[in-house]
Amino acid sequence: MRHPSATTEMPIRIGISACLLGEKVRFDAGHKRDAFIVETLGQFFHWIPVCPEMEIGLGTPRETLRLIGDAAAPRLIATQSQRDHTETMQQFAHDRVAQLAALGLHGYILKKDSPSCGMLRVRVYGKGGIPQRNGQGLFADALMTRLPLLPVEEEGRLHDMPLRENFIERVFAYYRWCTFVASTPAAKDVVRFHTQNKLALLAHSRPHYQALGRLVAQAGDLPIDELLGEYGRQFMAALKVKASRKKHANVLAHLQGYLKKQLDAADKAELVACIEDYRQGLVPLVVPLTLLQHHFRRHPVPWVEEQTYLTPYPAELMLRNHV
Ligand code: SF4
Repeated sequence: MRHPSATTEMPIRIGISACLLGEKVRFDAGHKRDAFIVETLGQFFHWIPVCPEMEIGLGTPRETLRLIGDAAAPRLIATQSQRDHTETMQQFAHDRVAQLAALGLHGYILKKDSPSCGMLRVRVYGKGGIPQRNGQGLFADALMTRLPLLPVEEEGRLHDMPLRENFIERVFAYYRWCTFVASTPAAKDVVRFHTQNKLALLAHSRPHYQALGRLVAQAGDLPIDELLGEYGRQFMAALKVKASRKKHANVLAHLQGYLKKQLDAADKAELVACIEDYRQGLVPLVVPLTLLQHHFRRHPVPWVEEQTYLTPYPAELMLRNHV
């Protein structure tokens, strides 16, 4: 499968907290450049940088801001002047997220801990000034509410390999889904899309895989917009469920089944042992997959060749060397 990259047309558009790209937009006129994001992901993604605090006119350097009050509806307050920026930020976020939605984003990377950009566990200061880590930045909240299917992650969590792999898989899957929807597909095309993604879905969530199977079984009876809306929701929800060694090993064993007649006893035993080594955590996922792909090159199976599971994102990212 050919993936878009910096050397092609870079059509994968990722919104990002601008400070993560090295832009000097933080309260202290500094930045939080993240080398992995800029140097590695930058080869594959076209960035759409946003600094909500700069864009509402706060400038640099500026007072720090805090979330204060109820975590479900916090106020965004400047720490020294006590100026309340809540309504300004909410109005800005509403309008800016609408612009981003029109651009057609495929993912978003947010800066952790920020009262504007933080996705999870942002400090909210209650009575007596005691913070609890149970809030979400106001811009992040507007973004995730308006675009619920969009893969969103924080830069800190991207240093965790399974979370990194999951986010990037979802970005490339969402890009494929958006491209598919833009092609004005018919019901039969949704069935084909589902077929191509069966193993990827199984590696994440069997319940979603089964529910999506039931949905496509009645594809011809549903209005196409309803079918696409429901399929898209469940498809992206499925990929958000964490894959595991056990689930991957089951998918690998399923793939191995397609080689039953083609492999001799020695090759079969080697493959079984390799999958078992992976199941037990002795080798990373790339090892059994490389062996399987070697066999499928010699004994091609069309159904297997079209599975997105085998190449969910560019191999250069080397994510399967770490999960
Ligand atoms: S975390 Fe968000 S608001 Fe703060 S500097 Fe970075 S982009 Fe701007």
